[in-house]
Amino acid sequence: MNVTFKFLLSLVVSVFCLSLSSCELLQPVGNINIKPIALLGEGRGKASLSSHGGVRITAYVTGWVKAPAKILIDQSYPNLPGKLQNAKWVPSIAYAIHHPEYGVVIMDAGLQKGECDYGLRPFYWVPCRNDAGTDLVSQLIRSKVAGEDIIHIIPSHFHGDHISGLGALLAYSDADVLLTQASLDELSSPLRAFSGVPSKMIRKDMKVSVIDSKMLEDPILGPSFDVFSDGSLLLFATPGHSAGHLSALVKTNKNQFLLSFDASHIKENIQLGIPSGASSSPEQARDSLQKLRAIMERFDGVKIIYGHEPSQWACVNQSIDLDILPATC
Ligand SMILES: [Zn+2]
Repeated sequence: MNVTFKFLLSLVVSVFCLSLSSCELLQPVGNINIKPIALLGEGRGKASLSSHGGVRITAYVTGWVKAPAKILIDQSYPNLPGKLQNAKWVPSIAYAIHHPEYGVVIMDAGLQKGECDYGLRPFYWVPCRNDAGTDLVSQLIRSKVAGEDIIHIIPSHFHGDHISGLGALLAYSDADVLLTQASLDELSSPLRAFSGVPSKMIRKDMKVSVIDSKMLEDPILGPSFDVFSDGSLLLFATPGHSAGHLSALVKTNKNQFLLSFDASHIKENIQLGIPSGASSSPEQARDSLQKLRAIMERFDGVKIIYGHEPSQWACVNQSIDLDILPATC
C-alpha cells in the first residue's frame, strides 16, 4: 500500500470506527518498554553446542483457523491446482525450545483459550476452533514449563494466529519479547490493523528487545541472530508476509529443523515458488522463499516445518517433541 492510500484508508476507517461503540483500531496495544538486547553467555560461561549437543523442541497445536486460500498462497498465479483455491482449516502452532543451560524460549503464542475467532470486521474475519486446555499456557503448565523458566518470547510476527495467546503468556511469564525493528514499527503503527496486527491480543505491558543491532550477516541466512550464542537457535529475517517476519534454524541432538513460520504457510509455497497472497512485499516474500530453498540445499537433511501445513500435524493431538514428529501419519 502506498502512503497516500494508507492515509485515506486510515481516515475512512477512523471515521467508521468512531461511529461504533468500540473499535479495535483505536485501542492502544499497551505499554511497550524497550530495553537493550543482552546476549546470553555475555559475562559468564558461554554455552557450547559441542558440550550439550543441541536443544529440544516441543510443538503445541493450540487450535485451528480457517485460512482463506489467498492468504495461504497467491491466487493470481495461473494454473494453481484446484485444491489450493479453497479456504483450509490449518493448525496454529507454538513452540517451546528447551536449552539445557539457559532455559526455555517460546516461539509464537498460538490461539487463546475460549472463544478465539478474531479479525477486524468488516475488513476480515478469521474463524477458529480449539478445545479446552489446548491454549499455550495450559499446555505449558501440563508440560511443567514454569513462567520463570521462560527466558524469551519470540513471535515470528504479530498476526492473530501467532499472538492470540500472547496476552495470557505475558501474564504467565515476565520474559522479554524479542523482535525486529520492522515488527516493532508494525506493532506501534496506528495502521497496524491493516498489517493484520490485532491490538486487543496484546494490550498488556511488554518488555521488548530489538535484535537488529546483534544480527550478523550470514551468506545464506542473511541477517541472523544467535539466540543462545551457541548456534542451536538461529533467527533470520524472512520479510514479505510481514515486514519484520522471522524464521528459525534449530539444532537438536538428533536433527536440524527449519521453522519457516509464514514465510511458507504450506508446502506448496516452497514447492511451487509461490508466496502468500497477503504480503507486506510480494518481492520480499518471493526472495524469502528462495532463501528457505537455499537453506534446504545447503544444510543436508534439514527438516522443514511449515507455518501451517495441515498434513504435518494431522496425527498430533496436542503436543509433540519435534524429534519424534512423524514425516507422514
Ligand atoms: Zn500464520
